[in-house]
Amino acid sequence: MSTYYDLFDEGRIALFKLQEGENDARLLLLWACDIDMPQLLTDYTTSQVSEEKIKKYRDAVALRKTGMPLQYITHESNFCGLELYVDENVLIPRFDTEVLVEKVLADNKENDITVLDLCTGSGCIAIALAKFGRYRGVYGSDISRAALEIADANAERNGVDITFYESDMFNELGDLRNLDIIVSNPPYIRSAVFGELMTEVRDHEPRIALDGDEDGLKFYRIIASGAREHLHKGGKLYLEIGYDQAEEVRKLLEENGYRNIEIIKDLSGLDRVICSTV
Ligand code: GLN
Repeated sequence: MSTYYDLFDEGRIALFKLQEGENDARLLLLWACDIDMPQLLTDYTTSQVSEEKIKKYRDAVALRKTGMPLQYITHESNFCGLELYVDENVLIPRFDTEVLVEKVLADNKENDITVLDLCTGSGCIAIALAKFGRYRGVYGSDISRAALEIADANAERNGVDITFYESDMFNELGDLRNLDIIVSNPPYIRSAVFGELMTEVRDHEPRIALDGDEDGLKFYRIIASGAREHLHKGGKLYLEIGYDQAEEVRKLLEENGYRNIEIIKDLSGLDRVICSTV
């Protein structure tokens, strides 16, 4: 029989090469044993962990050791304080994307608003906006059916009503026009640098959700030319961008007639969000 102490020690050693290995071992132990931190500390050396939980923990540590992100092992992810299911069909929501949500919420306090989240993935942005903005109509779209099933389940889990569209960008959005807001965190990594990403991202997260083609701007081009047809005059566009893309995306938006362009920084002080008005 092993105690939490034995198992944590075993996991910590197995994951020592990872940047956050010790913390990952602790989180996987909490998850596999279905306990919280106070329980772990209280029973640290006295616990007798069942064989079933030990196996669950060891399997999880072995997966983490291969570079699989923690969230794809536990299928738990947190975004803006909301709990979301994730697997390898969707991107793991990032803290930086919370900046996009906060900006939309800060600018748009009325409830009588319609908003579309293009490339919704896990549904994180749409769900956070529906939950905290209490907007009248929240829509999400994605090209991936597998992603939409996850987004739909996440919306239900968080008690919000969102209509999802299976659509390659604006192609299958039907009569979804006259919207107040479009938001998107589109794929924006340049194809050439894809190979340089961390294993966790490169080998496990869906490439379709990350790869922005040769110059990383493919989806911003599509959005800049298409969004205005789905927004009413005065409608707003909010986009997440790569830290080095602000000027290029600003230019694209200006060329397409968008006004009031504003760039917002993320928590690390890097350009992360660009907003504008039609
Ligand atoms: N909207 C999702 C997110 O922000 C997915 C984005 C994407 O697939 N590019 O995490």
